[in-house]
Amino acid sequence: MSIITVERKVLEKNDEVAAELKSIFIKRKIFVLNVLSSPGSGKTTLLEKTLKQIKEDIKVAVIEGDVQTDYDAQRIAKYKIPVVQIVTNGGCHLDALLVRDALKSLTLDGIQMLFIENVGNLVCPASYDLGEHKKIVIVSTTEGDDKPVKYPKMFRVADVCILNKIDLLAYVDFDVSTFHANAKKVNPNLLFIELSAKTGAGLEDWLKWLKEQL
Ligand code: MG
Ligand code: ZN
Repeated sequence: MSIITVERKVLEKNDEVAAELKSIFIKRKIFVLNVLSSPGSGKTTLLEKTLKQIKEDIKVAVIEGDVQTDYDAQRIAKYKIPVVQIVTNGGCHLDALLVRDALKSLTLDGIQMLFIENVGNLVCPASYDLGEHKKIVIVSTTEGDDKPVKYPKMFRVADVCILNKIDLLAYVDFDVSTFHANAKKVNPNLLFIELSAKTGAGLEDWLKWLKEQL
């Protein structure tokens, strides 16, 4: 079927460019994170809290991916961090070609860490490598604890799984141990970090992990 062939070609081209990006990141010693989740899980809020804590010690840059608006890039720019917004105009994921274009608008000199906030979507971003070192998937407690088994590919490719909004656990039907069991079914090597980007609870575990990566 021709549709399958076209998609495969798109993915092959993506992997080719992702490999190109990866060699640039390695050469420049930039640690790159691809941050993934459904819309509204708190990617940008976690990024803001993270930047606030690390920007004095680590030189950071951010690429924001959104279907429309540059609202998230504006939020990041407040922290005086180099940031580029990719507007996909309806596209439901970032790909390596978009990231390669975005890099042209970023000065990478001296940058040690690059966060790429992907479009909020647990489906196709899992298939598009962006040359990153680690994929971080964020789930919030306002979503179902069955997310890992409903979107297995995302959890299979992720390195770290952040459970966000733990301050709401008393008010929602989210069972943390069920969630862990579901995630381990698809990826036994997944590392879990639980936090609340809003209250700051658990944030130290995430920051500790981040600093260990450099
Ligand atoms: Mg966002
Ligand atoms: Zn997509």
